Amino acid sequence: MYTKNSTDLHFHNEADAQTEMDMKLQSADFMKIFELGLPPVDHEAIEHATTEILTAVGEDPQRDGLLNTPHRVAKMYEELPSGYRTDPAKLINNALFDVEYDDMVIVRDIEFSSLCEHHMLPFLGHAHVDYIPRGKVIGLSKIPRIVDMFAKRLQVQERMTRQIANFINEVLDPRGVAVVVDGKHMCGMMRGVEKHDPSMTTSAMIGAFRENTSTRHEFMSHLGRVPGNFGV
Ligand SMILES: [Zn+2]
Repeated sequence: MYTKNSTDLHFHNEADAQTEMDMKLQSADFMKIFELGLPPVDHEAIEHATTEILTAVGEDPQRDGLLNTPHRVAKMYEELPSGYRTDPAKLINNALFDVEYDDMVIVRDIEFSSLCEHHMLPFLGHAHVDYIPRGKVIGLSKIPRIVDMFAKRLQVQERMTRQIANFINEVLDPRGVAVVVDGKHMCGMMRGVEKHDPSMTTSAMIGAFRENTSTRHEFMSHLGRVPGNFGV
């Protein structure tokens, strides 16, 4: 398995390749596909809306404990959907390496927290990412940041899983990429809806992981899973 100490690493010295990648990552098409480059959060509008909600549920927005709540909520919403405003070129910056290595690179148990777009309540858990390089790898610390870029938004877990896989596929052009996400959804836990299991596993498989059963099974066994329970 690939580790940070691998001696196969070479810095990607070709400035041209770097520029080309930056241009791709910052192109209008790329930004649109991955829902990036959204305008800044309107702090004032959120403060106003929060006051409205407080009033609508029968609260007194002027009482001591709530006085600063609209302000706090607005600040929070600058942070929670920050994934829409991540600069992918900055994120990837100088972290692509040419390698001979062509075995699986697995990063497990990446913590994430997101907001379900149906209720604007959190869902959180762990993502597991695996890819098989085709001459190029990405610095290991970047994988959790890619997960974060797609988690810090209004999401559905299926789409988040797919976007992480597609993004890695676009940037690395690997032989295959697999993403498995385990999430717990607060909207299922807090609202006492018995028909909604708050735990959910989703997966996205591209290239070798989609085409080759034994590759897929190898990944699943690394995760300690029985293959076949992932709708793949
Ligand atoms: Zn929900």
